[in-house]
Amino acid sequence: MGAYYCAICRQTTFTGKKHIFGKTHQSRLRVVLLKSLEKVKEARRTLKKPQVEKFDCIQHKQTFWCYCCELEIQRHITDENMTVLHGGLLEHMATPEHRKKTHKFWWDNKADPKLRDKIIIKEDEIERFKAEVANALESFVEKEDEIIKQQADHIRGQEKHRQEVLQSLSERDAEPELFTGPNGIDMSAQDIVRHQFRQEEGQKNRQKRKKEQSTDRSKKVKTSERQRNSDDT
Ligand SMILES: [Zn+2]
Ligand SMILES: [Zn+2]
Repeated sequence: MGAYYCAICRQTTFTGKKHIFGKTHQSRLRVVLLKSLEKVKEARRTLKKPQVEKFDCIQHKQTFWCYCCELEIQRHITDENMTVLHGGLLEHMATPEHRKKTHKFWWDNKADPKLRDKIIIKEDEIERFKAEVANALESFVEKEDEIIKQQADHIRGQEKHRQEVLQSLSERDAEPELFTGPNGIDMSAQDIVRHQFRQEEGQKNRQKRKKEQSTDRSKKVKTSERQRNSDDT
């Protein structure tokens, strides 16, 4: 007999010695099983209502180590476009191979028999899951198409608006009196805006100056009045 490696204890036992499936092994096994069962439980929640998402290159490439099969499996199923969350794990747990290996693993490790069937997906469960996945994928594609259509409509609307603005500017360009610069030079749309702005600013400044001048004048009037008053006394 060759060396025996216990994946739970991460320990190799060489020829002539027996691996001890004692307290240390059992407590490590409990930790390993709880971790695995937690992931299977999470996956089971999607059995009746599969979750389809847009592909995420980090989240959806997660793997799962199956201790029963001593195999690394993909947790999710993806075509790098969309992903069925937990699909990989559920499908693996439903294979006859996994069922067989799980039975052996439980027997070899003297694991708690109550937990064994939690890690196996039944045939009818996976059949229903697959049918639901087909529906979920279909509605996901429909939703995606609707989003793409909305985005395209939005872009078309923006383009139409841009064309209208350009059209109205070029029409205004065609009227030489209004939109020729002060020196009779043709102006671009940008120049027109800049020119109009300067004109408005100039107007504002003139108004401001007028206001200041008038207050100056009224001040002068007031002082001369006061002077006149003091002259009277
Ligand atoms: Zn062990
Ligand atoms: Zn397995």
